[in-house]
Amino acid sequence: MVQIPLLERLEILADAAKYDASCASSGSVKRNSVGGKGLGSTDRGMGICHAYAPDGRCISLLKLLLTNHCVFDCHYCINRKSSNVKRARFTPQEVADLTLTFYRRNYIEGLFLSSGIIKDASHTMELLIETARILREDNDFRGYIHLKTIPEAESELVARAGLYADRVSINVELPTDAGLKRLAPDKNRVQIEGAMGDLGRAIVEAKDARKRFRHAPRFAPAGQSTQMIVGADGANDSDIIKRASGLYGTHNLRRVYYSSFSPIPDASAVLPLKRPPLIREHRLYQSDWLMRFYGYNAGEIAQAADDDGNLPLDIDPKLAWALKFRERFPVDVNRSAREDLLRVPGLGVRGVNQIIAARRQRGLRLDDVAKLTVSVTKIRPFICTVDWRPSLLTDRADLRKLLSRPEKQLELFA
Ligand code: SF4
Repeated sequence: MVQIPLLERLEILADAAKYDASCASSGSVKRNSVGGKGLGSTDRGMGICHAYAPDGRCISLLKLLLTNHCVFDCHYCINRKSSNVKRARFTPQEVADLTLTFYRRNYIEGLFLSSGIIKDASHTMELLIETARILREDNDFRGYIHLKTIPEAESELVARAGLYADRVSINVELPTDAGLKRLAPDKNRVQIEGAMGDLGRAIVEAKDARKRFRHAPRFAPAGQSTQMIVGADGANDSDIIKRASGLYGTHNLRRVYYSSFSPIPDASAVLPLKRPPLIREHRLYQSDWLMRFYGYNAGEIAQAADDDGNLPLDIDPKLAWALKFRERFPVDVNRSAREDLLRVPGLGVRGVNQIIAARRQRGLRLDDVAKLTVSVTKIRPFICTVDWRPSLLTDRADLRKLLSRPEKQLELFA
């Protein structure tokens, strides 16, 4: 068989990996090579390049597939076995060498490695682990490693991945069982959630062990994450957020990533012809943020949705919720509880903390609050201060129109 040159394989396998959105490197432990020991750092230190895609995604990791050969046939995936794409494959040693070379040149801060399934899930998982082992053990690599794990692989292998990787992830792929069965017939929700459960328990046990024994091995210190594809099946935003909330609660996930389905070349006939607007993905991330940092639950996000269960695209979910529950406003910034302040559209967590600290000294005026928010226009109908009461503004029928801005659609791979 003719071997494809390395550069061409790099092009093929980096391009094939771009559909996976879950590449942020937050939350890992600090490791560095200060003192000339080892190579790399998980900190975003000096001289390490960062690049962001136009839609804000972090692309500073070397993001690769080990191979785009795959024995599975997920309809939404360009690498599925029935897809007519050029195939390529790296060895674990080649990926390790590329990572080290790019790291030394400050092109990247770590590695995000996934793979199509070759032969079977366990064999593929062994190759992914071997890549991480070469980096960590043979080269003392201390940079960030994110390994995609394969739920169908033997559980000891999935567990071994966590000993080398900072973050491990298993994609749930579709938010509903029906969607998974229809679009990823080789995958199985029970298996996926079983593997996530095993990983979650191993992460907690390793943390406990390290509290008691200083030299207990680390296990995926940046936790586990997952990704859901948005817009490939009929699931609406309320379904997606409900599923995400369940995953956070059950498996203690660090992050759920939402990836707008992108029509792929040579697409399967069961897929929609059009991608969902990217702003939909953005609204899901905002909702996720509201659940994790602002005290909203999945039911409240669903209340912010329109009748079809999807979040409005012209306004953010926090504003949508506030407009539906106007009886909860205005909120007195000088007296109200923190959880009520966090519900005010336009006020972030940091702004709320600053308000609570400042109001201990004196009564706050509208100008004081304006300094803590991007848009005082957005905030005015929902608060009162020493010198401001919105009176009828909060109940105006055209308030949504006054506060909404037409959003510009970004291109995912422009
Ligand atoms: S398992 Fe499915 S999603 Fe993963 S590479 Fe294969 S076809 Fe694509």
